[in-house]
Amino acid sequence: MIGGMAAPVLDLIDIRKSYGRTEALAGVSLTVQPGELFGLLGPNGAGKTTLLAILAGLSEPTAGAVKLFGDAFDPRARAARKLIGLATQDLAIYPELSARENLRFFGELYGLGRADLRSRIDEMLGAVSLKDRADQLAGTFSGGMKRRLNLAVALVHRPRLLLLDEPTTGVDPQSRNHIFERVQALNAEGLTVIYTSHYMEEVQALCPRIGILDHGRVIACDSRESLLNRLDTALTLTMAEPTSAWLASARQLPGARSVEWSHGNLQVASPEAAALLPKLLAHGAAPSAIDVKAPTLESVFLSLTGRALRD
Ligand code: ADP
Repeated sequence: MIGGMAAPVLDLIDIRKSYGRTEALAGVSLTVQPGELFGLLGPNGAGKTTLLAILAGLSEPTAGAVKLFGDAFDPRARAARKLIGLATQDLAIYPELSARENLRFFGELYGLGRADLRSRIDEMLGAVSLKDRADQLAGTFSGGMKRRLNLAVALVHRPRLLLLDEPTTGVDPQSRNHIFERVQALNAEGLTVIYTSHYMEEVQALCPRIGILDHGRVIACDSRESLLNRLDTALTLTMAEPTSAWLASARQLPGARSVEWSHGNLQVASPEAAALLPKLLAHGAAPSAIDVKAPTLESVFLSLTGRALRD
């Protein structure tokens, strides 16, 4: 503790990881503060899983330093491993064990005492709504139930940092909402969460601060608002073709980055579209339809890389 400030939960300093000639991580620096719900967004192959494998102690970085709660991270130290809960993309549950037995197995692995473990297992089964399935084999569960059990397993030892790798893969909408709500509730209770996904809608909906990873590099890391505010909102007004004099004066309106007549519509780009729209109407625009396209993380990624996130 320096000056009363808690140490960052996680501090990654220039992390590199190479597999032969493949540079999976090419110098990643990131800091996650206590209580954050941090989104790590990147296309397939960006290096997300490699980064989480390093934090789980399953892989060693080629270079760089990891600090966990202010201390150098030693994944061989049990105390350090206990601070982290990891729900991997590939499920880490045993299909031939029941939900309860899975939780007991992992709880014992982390050294939870018997009495504590019993109440903790019940608590976790309740938290992911699997109480009535507690004694069924995990192998018989639906994709969504397996994901929920996987989340419970990652939490059973009360970690202080939860790492989620694509937690909604193969999940039905109901389980997906359930996982979202759990993650938000856990975060509201003070748990620091790193949520990794290539689904930009998920990260945009859940995470107030977001790092965008591409080709092993952090190409942007900022609050959701700042990331989205980098781009203009696109307004499309379906209306009669204006005169060029009207267009010229519309371009003088404050907040109008560009005003063009194109494809039979008035196309407007603005960093403050909500304020500009009434000004356009007051200026005499009489649209029969208005379409508003606010920036998304998808468009932010496109503007940063020239590529779509999903290709
Ligand atoms: P993501 O999780 O974002 O999809 P990964 O971390 O899985 O990305 O992969 C990052 C890059 O490292 C990819 O180019 C991938 O092919 C490569 N990679 C990952 N693991 C290995 C490995 N064990 N051996 C060789 N290359 C790997």
